Amino acid sequence: MTERSALVPVVSYARISADTKRDGHGVKDQHKVNRETAARHGWTVVHQFTDNDKSAAKLDVVRDAFEDMLKALKAGKLPDGTEIRGVVVVADDRLARRPGDYERFLDAFTHNEDFVFADAKQEIDLYNEDAETMGLIGVVFSKKEVRRIARRTRQGHRRRAEQGIPVGGHRPFGWKWDRVTLEPAEAELIRSAAQQFIAGRSLGSIANEWRRNGVLTPRGNLWITKTIKAMLGHARNCGWRELHGELVRDESGNPVVGTWQPIITPEQWMTIRALLDARKGKRLDNNGAIVGVLPQDYRDHRYLLTGILRCGREKEGGGICNKLLRVKTYNGRRPWGYVCESPAAGGCSGVGRRGDLVDFFISELVISKMEEAQFAEAEQDGEWSNAEEYENAKERLEVMTRQWEEGKVSNEHYFRMLPRLEKAVSRLRAEEARFKASAERRHARSRIDVAEIRRRWYLPEEEGGLPLSQKRAHIREALHAVIVHPSGKGRKPFNPDLLEPIWRE
Ligand SMILES: [Zn+2]
Repeated sequence: MTERSALVPVVSYARISADTKRDGHGVKDQHKVNRETAARHGWTVVHQFTDNDKSAAKLDVVRDAFEDMLKALKAGKLPDGTEIRGVVVVADDRLARRPGDYERFLDAFTHNEDFVFADAKQEIDLYNEDAETMGLIGVVFSKKEVRRIARRTRQGHRRRAEQGIPVGGHRPFGWKWDRVTLEPAEAELIRSAAQQFIAGRSLGSIANEWRRNGVLTPRGNLWITKTIKAMLGHARNCGWRELHGELVRDESGNPVVGTWQPIITPEQWMTIRALLDARKGKRLDNNGAIVGVLPQDYRDHRYLLTGILRCGREKEGGGICNKLLRVKTYNGRRPWGYVCESPAAGGCSGVGRRGDLVDFFISELVISKMEEAQFAEAEQDGEWSNAEEYENAKERLEVMTRQWEEGKVSNEHYFRMLPRLEKAVSRLRAEEARFKASAERRHARSRIDVAEIRRRWYLPEEEGGLPLSQKRAHIREALHAVIVHPSGKGRKPFNPDLLEPIWRE
């Protein structure tokens, strides 16, 4: 500890990238930020390395200062003999321009024990295994490397524990302070929330339940719909690395896997993401595909079957009224009902039915349909028909890149072909993700024990009953609509045969 109090000599690295959009800082600013960062940690900048990629959109640019820095790091000193023991950058994306850069940087850095590293936000332990995934571009470690880093991780953790320093800023919900090990109770909450969301439960009702149970965010706040949504959307939950809201991918386009313990499967996460993305103002079918714009009242359903029941009264010119039925209450004078509104409100007022009885009857229909379907659904699980085409496209891209790197293909040819190849790969990748998402929803549905659904269907939510939004989702997945046929003049006993379900197939 005490040796740390002497100023640690570090180098400052700055790069102006060709990607000017993301360049908030000029080189001077970057070095200035780095000096301030160093000062905050009790370090001092003894040298500045600067690269300018701006003029070099070409990939074969050699970053001299970067290479010089790697040499200095390995040696533990500058060419003039000045000792160095660490690096400061504005953000870790300064370090990697091309695949392999970050790996080589880590290699040079971890060549020595006890070097320090920080970006403008925080000090980062690069001996920690987690650091592997911070590289922008896939970092492939040799087995030997992984073992070496794993050993150092343990040392690093102990050192941190001894100094009482938590790793990273604040802890992600679901993990302990090391950001790697699961916090079992929270992980279980995420797992079950993810499953329920995929199965159709609303985010708001999950937030309600967590608030009722006193679950807190890592910052000590109560959960709200927005924070639940953000939390479920994190790729970290399935073990994938994300940067600025985008998945980090390796050279073949596969997501880079983090070293922390995942909570849900990548398929589940992709499904959640597809659902969240598609929801922005859209209505989904039961495979998660968009089928239209959400009706105005999609948020606040207080009744089970609004938006499902339609008026079946025949119109004079033929056909049926087909208006959505509304809820009508009678101040306790008689039971509430679903009715076709008056002609003034655009209906025909030709149909009305007791709400509680319709709810019960349709619930029973849907639950029995789910019981039947449970057996059938678990069986079917097709293969994605374009898997081979996807593999071929990736391979073509790889081969072409390798040939270009080996000088067997001209720059002109390569860069003319590149956009087309990349486009094919990304189109197929997206298609695969959609396919997996839809298969995952089928699985999620068949995994849910229908007996359990039946048990919880009629319980109040406070006693573990299904939330209304989830019951509505089950009904929507089973039914397009229910046509309510008129029962004739006067009060008649409830006749279920006048409810005509239109099933989804
Ligand atoms: Zn009507």
